[in-house]
This record gives sequence, C-alpha cells and structure tokens, in this order.
Amino acid sequence: MNIINGKKIADEIKNKIKLEIHQISQKHTAKKPCLTVIQSGEDKASNVYIKNQKNCCEEVGIDYRLLKLNGDAAEKEFIETVRQCGDDKSITGIIVHLPLPKHINAQTVQSSINPYKDVEGITPHNLGMLFYHDVPHYIVPCTARAVLECLNSTGQSIKGKETVIVGHSEIVGKSLCLMMLSSSKESATPTVCHIATKNLADHTRRADILVVAVGKPEFIRGDMVKEGAIVIDVGINVKKVLDTCSCQTPDALKPGAEKFITVGDVCFNEVAQKAGYITPVPGGVGPVTSAMLLNNLLMLYKMQQK
Ligand code: NAD
Repeated sequence: MNIINGKKIADEIKNKIKLEIHQISQKHTAKKPCLTVIQSGEDKASNVYIKNQKNCCEEVGIDYRLLKLNGDAAEKEFIETVRQCGDDKSITGIIVHLPLPKHINAQTVQSSINPYKDVEGITPHNLGMLFYHDVPHYIVPCTARAVLECLNSTGQSIKGKETVIVGHSEIVGKSLCLMMLSSSKESATPTVCHIATKNLADHTRRADILVVAVGKPEFIRGDMVKEGAIVIDVGINVKKVLDTCSCQTPDALKPGAEKFITVGDVCFNEVAQKAGYITPVPGGVGPVTSAMLLNNLLMLYKMQQK
C-alpha cells in the first residue's frame, strides 16, 4: 500500500506558482495578483480559515484583500459588492466566503461573480465549460482538481477505469465526474453514488478508483473496498475520542480525557490494508485543494494579462 502525500504534492505546486509569480513580476511592473474575499458577519471558525488562506496567498506572492460586510446586509447589497469587485481591475480573483447569513442565497450571490474572476470555478459559466470534451478546463472547482492531482501522482492512468465517486455535491462529486469524462478517448468510467443509492457497497467494491466525499467520519470500511484500489478520501470530519496518551507533560491530557481529532470519510486503518494507494486525512486532498486555489488564481492572472 502506498500513501499519497498531499502535503508534498501541494508544496511542489506552490513552489512552481511562487516561481512563476516572481518571474512575471520581474518582467512586468504590472500589479501583483490579488485575491479578494468577501465575508459576511463574524464567525470564529471562518476567521481562522481566512487567516490561513491569507498566509497561503502571501507565501507565494499573492495579495490578499478581505472585504467584511455587515451580517445584516441585504442580498442586493452583497451582489452589488460582488459586481464592483468584478469590475475592479486591481482584483484578480473573488471568493464569497461561506456560510452566508440565512437571508442570503449563496447560489444567487456566487452566480453574480464575474466568471473571469471566479477563482473557485463555481459560476454557471465555468461549471458549464466542464461539459465540453477535449478543451482545456482552466478554472475548475479546486477540490475536484485536487482529487485528479492526487490520482496523477500515482502514475496510474484513469483511462477506462471503473471509478466510483461517493457524494454528488456540485463542487466535488458532480464536477469530478464531468472532469473524468472530459477526454473523448481517455476518460475513466465513473459512477456517482449518493444518499439515495441502494446497496452502496456493491458499487464501491468494484471500484478500481474510489473517491469519497460524504462528510461522515470513517463511513467507508475495509470490506467495502476492492483489493489494490486507489482510494481518495475527500472528507474532513472532527471526531471525539478518548485520549490514550500516557505522557506526563503538564499540557498533556489525562488518559481517558476527551479530545478531538480530524478523520476522513474512509476508515484509514481498515482500508489501508486493502488499497493500492490511499490519501490520509489530514495531509491528503486538503492541502492540494488549497494549492489548486492558488493555481486557479495564477491562471486568471495570466488570462487577464492578455
Ligand atoms: P455535501 O454535504 O454537499 O454532500 C454530501 C454528499 O454525500 C451528498 O451527495 C450526499 O448525497 C452524499 N451522502 C450522504 N450520505 C450518504 C450515504 N449514506 N451514502 C451515500 N452518499 C451519501 O458535502 P461536500 O461539500 O461534497 O463535502 C463532503 C466532505 O468533503 C465533507 O467532509 C467536507 O468537509 C469535505 N470537503 C473536503 C475538501 C478538501 O479540500 N479536502 C473540500 C470540500 C469538502
């Protein structure tokens, strides 16, 4: 069994991006690429996420701008801000940070992003492009592309492979399915399973490539996986466990105390016994997704220079 090292893949992508941004800035005195994030209201978890995203951008030479809107701002005001950012030539890419307050329809707001600044690849224009065969898909949902990067890193071809994707969200399962069908001659053979799928294990057990994006901790067990399969775990879940640590440091938890750990949608210990390749959580798809966001921003920057 081989572990797919998402951190290593992400570091390689980020180093290339950093170098390319540096080279572009040497040639032109033009503006630096700039990512603008529009956030509504205050939320502790979001603030941590935004801080990490800012650090990631600055690490490779991308300017990061945060626009905070009042939590009770109307949908109309939100859309107007998104449109203004779309017209602002100093902005390369736009993210509408989720979750949004209940009175705002996220899909309506995200659809108003200028598709040429849609760094997450979630506007109808960019999602629609996924339907076409044999054309370059420049701007695609970051997680779906991260899954393909993890698959590529194995050196195994996806051509014709029996592929089962569990989860049919727009940004992961559905987009990935279309991306895996995007070549007229070298596509995989994907099946997409979801909450209404009957006899899920009958599908997962025949997969040469199994991608799981469900949001349920350790949902896929060892007996649901084919021997030698490539298993890509997209899930990120927090699980409460009892600490078994016997360290005596002052900060250590007492054995038996509760703590929280991050686990995927795949039961790693069981599935790793059978898989040919597997992504861990954390350290698998997650870091590659963050790197793909930077990659999308660089793509947009180059498109806007033309
Ligand atoms: P979502 O909630 O939008 O979709 C969940 C999907 O799982 C749906 O298609 C649903 O039908 C399916 N599902 C639920 N229960 C099922 C069951 N019993 N059997 C079969 N299918 C079932 O989720 P999402 O936004 O795609 O995210 C999924 C997971 O991936 C979450 O844990 C999320 O945190 C994680 N995620 C990780 C990254 C990353 O970069 N690693 C990015 C996005 C999402």
